[in-house]
Amino acid sequence: MPGPYDQYETDTLAVRAGQVRTHECEQSEPLFLTSSFTFRNAAEAAARFRYFFRLRISAERDAFGSLGEQLSRGNSTAARFRGDQPGNIYSRFTNPTVRTFEQRLAAMEGGERCVATASGMGAILTLCLGLLRAGDHIVCSQSVFGTTVTLLQNQLSKFGVATTFVPMTDYEAWSNAIRPETRLLFLETPSNPLTEIADIARIAEIARARGCLLAVDNCFLTPALQRPLELGADVVIHSATKYIDGQGRCVGGAVVGPGKLVGEAVFGVVRNGGICLSPFNAWVFLKGLETLGLRMEAHSARALALAQWLQGQRGVRSVHYPGLPSHPQHELAGRQQRGFGGIVAFEVEGGREAAWKVIDGVRIFSITANLGDTKSTITHPATTTHWRLSDPERARAGITEGLIRLSVGLEDADDLRRDLADALGR
Ligand code: PLP
Repeated sequence: MPGPYDQYETDTLAVRAGQVRTHECEQSEPLFLTSSFTFRNAAEAAARFRYFFRLRISAERDAFGSLGEQLSRGNSTAARFRGDQPGNIYSRFTNPTVRTFEQRLAAMEGGERCVATASGMGAILTLCLGLLRAGDHIVCSQSVFGTTVTLLQNQLSKFGVATTFVPMTDYEAWSNAIRPETRLLFLETPSNPLTEIADIARIAEIARARGCLLAVDNCFLTPALQRPLELGADVVIHSATKYIDGQGRCVGGAVVGPGKLVGEAVFGVVRNGGICLSPFNAWVFLKGLETLGLRMEAHSARALALAQWLQGQRGVRSVHYPGLPSHPQHELAGRQQRGFGGIVAFEVEGGREAAWKVIDGVRIFSITANLGDTKSTITHPATTTHWRLSDPERARAGITEGLIRLSVGLEDADDLRRDLADALGR
């Protein structure tokens, strides 16, 4: 498809962007399931290594300033790189199937570069290792995925990166938490599991004014329904495991943003740290992207129908879904998003015992912690996805013992409603 990509709509990019046909003229993207690539002779091997490392050194110069300068002064005399040649070397560095996935997702998010990672958590780790150093500080929404909290609090803190957690929709708290050494603001919108919505443009403005970067986890909506870079975010994070795959098969992730940030700083961590995406998973995600727009619309329609119905049910204390007028950020969601997504959370009266009874009573929903699947799933966040949090952390995130999270799949909405009705009745 001829560029530039910004002339096309997301649905067209989802099907076409990044494809490079081989000499076999295949219609569907090929899967390059290979760990390494061969060279016709020793000279070609040397030429490809020269090319690869010249690119890395010039990107390092962009990303790291004086450090890159030192590297390039030490290594890049013109003679050293004469006759270099582009081409693949090893799949931890580059792989054509992974590259097609990266280029397609970057185009859909409206970003310059995408770096695919082994998982969504791998994407968050890679982002932090790539952009931060000891002494830096993060301000993070307290309504993020539980493992993200654990990663920042337990692992990154060991390397001298501190994190302050703030209520996601308290914009003064974001501002007040920023210190001179704050480098990154991080949020997830809608949040997991309560579907709170942050005003991305407003937080991006705070970040810009204070010289910080803003990273947004776009896992719940995907570029089909929300494009954070257009709203002023610097970097987008994905767990491709969720809607991008869409059928619950593979684990993977991605970081999307400007080449200057993502090109070497983040890619370097993947290459050297080995947090790379397998070509097979990249191929599954690539095919997932092709139907993403249609699926997100269908997930959203079914989720809205279920949320509306749940609101009137006996024993249901509250329903959290951005498509409901009762949702505190309903109006913002309508402005910022192109749909409300497939995640619904609701709280039943009777705490954990009642919530577990509902979960054990369903026949169609799968009891599993994953989301974004064609198959609807049901989860008890307090004892699964968020159980590692301390009681005060869980309370801060609004996760009560009676809370249930649904990831509404693509089964018939009436069948899902009947399944929940039976479970609530029991
Ligand atoms: N971000 C969000 C919002 C998630 O819900 C999850 C997982 O559930 C992740 C990141 C982590 O993704 P992965 O399981 O692919 O590492």
